[in-house]
Amino acid sequence: MVGSAIVRKLQDEGYTTIITRTSSELDLRNQAAVTDFFDQENPDYVFLAAAKVGGILANNTYRAEFLYDNLMIESNIIHSAYKTGVKKLLFLGSSCIYPKLAPQPLKEEYLLSGYLESTNEPYAIAKITGIKLCDAYRSQYGCNFISAMPTNLYGPNDNYNLQGSHVLPALIRKFHEAKVNDEPTVEVWGTGSPMREFLHADDLADACFFLMENYNDELFVNIGTGEDVTIREAAELIKDIVGFEGELRWNTEKPDGTPRKLMDVSRLHEMGWKHRTELRQGLEMTYQDFLANEVLYIE
Ligand code: GDP
Repeated sequence: MVGSAIVRKLQDEGYTTIITRTSSELDLRNQAAVTDFFDQENPDYVFLAAAKVGGILANNTYRAEFLYDNLMIESNIIHSAYKTGVKKLLFLGSSCIYPKLAPQPLKEEYLLSGYLESTNEPYAIAKITGIKLCDAYRSQYGCNFISAMPTNLYGPNDNYNLQGSHVLPALIRKFHEAKVNDEPTVEVWGTGSPMREFLHADDLADACFFLMENYNDELFVNIGTGEDVTIREAAELIKDIVGFEGELRWNTEKPDGTPRKLMDVSRLHEMGWKHRTELRQGLEMTYQDFLANEVLYIE
């Protein structure tokens, strides 16, 4: 989702020498394969969007892979970028790097000030390590490696697998299928009280391009909207957009996860960047994209 959004943005900006690889073409966990790739392609600028990602259930179930895969991907790429003299690299992390009970909104300096949320601790540890790798190669070798922490994302090419996905694609699919099959209820996880901030993938790509052009400092930058909603509000919104007329059934056996993770985006705003897509509009676009690509998204 993020990689394809960045490619669309670069194409819109007129770039023609964009080098990409799918995960089946290049296994980024494989050090020798990544070394060969960098030696052959010699990229000038690297957007490190590749990661093993997923929703609350996937993070909590595949704890080993979320740690191992992400550590390998970022270590291999960041080290190869240093070795081959990449001019600039942007590493993408996640808002889950912040302590579970950090004050809200989350300022960049709250990193490592408390305990992490347990459902996604392995993923968060890997992403914190990525930030620290960029910082270490910057301070020791002078590499211009920067990091940005996006909030929860949604948009085209999202993961619609109900066991692996995040909340928005899961609910788009569940409400859509319930409407089509005329089912009376849709199961929604947790209590509905956690709050989440959501950013459209095209806005994220725009922010990444902005930072690649304008930001060269060590401290990572939060990317978000600075606004959040409860999961209950998000569910009601999607129900309305999809046109499902039945009831929500809250399954409190499923975890809530962290109570809130609202980004403080004042640094990005001060630099001159702000999101464009509001949640309702973004979800309407995403539902249309889901309808157009349902066969691809649901295998
Ligand atoms: P998180 O932001 O890392 O917690 O990841 P998610 O996007 O997976 O979950 C966000 C919140 O939405 C959690 O409180 C979930 O319990 C809740 N949620 C409600 N229904 C669903 C669902 O069908 N799938 C997912 N993934 N989360 C859901």
